[in-house]
Parts: sequence; C-alpha cells; structure tokens
Amino acid sequence: MENSYDNNGFMIVRENYCCDHFEPDEGALVPMKECWCCKWARFDAEIHELNSKSVGICQYEGNRCEVVESSEVSL
Ligand code: SF4
Repeated sequence: MENSYDNNGFMIVRENYCCDHFEPDEGALVPMKECWCCKWARFDAEIHELNSKSVGICQYEGNRCEVVESSEVSL
C-alpha cells in the first residue's frame, strides 16, 4: 500500500490499520491491535483538516514522510 501524508509529513491512517510500531493507548480498555487503539494515532479530523473521522494521522516519528523516504534511499 502506498502511504499518504498530511502537510506536516505525518502518515495518514485508517482506524483499522496497524503497523509494527503499535503501542496501546492507555485509555483503551481492551486495546485492539489497530491505529484506533494506538497511542501514536490522532483521529481529531477537524484539527488536521481531514475529511473523515475514520481517518487520522500517525504521530510516530519513524513513520513520518521524511524518515520513511530517507530510510528507503539508504536501502
Ligand atoms: S498509529 Fe502509527 S504507530 Fe500506531 S499502529 Fe497506527 S501506524 Fe502504527
């Protein structure tokens, strides 16, 4: 899957997406292994000017656009 990023370089994710950097959000009672329950995800759509509440951003630094692109170049 080709990743998409917002204007700040944060990866755009869907609720049910997941990656190897998943860490459960402290507020989740029974954390499912998906972005919706991950501490790095933000689903406050209005703030990030996304057009759906089921779409959010991942704030994990290693998933930011420039980090991912620089690691792909060095492969
Ligand atoms: S929010 Fe980010 S770090 Fe967490 S599972 Fe989703 S893509 Fe991975």
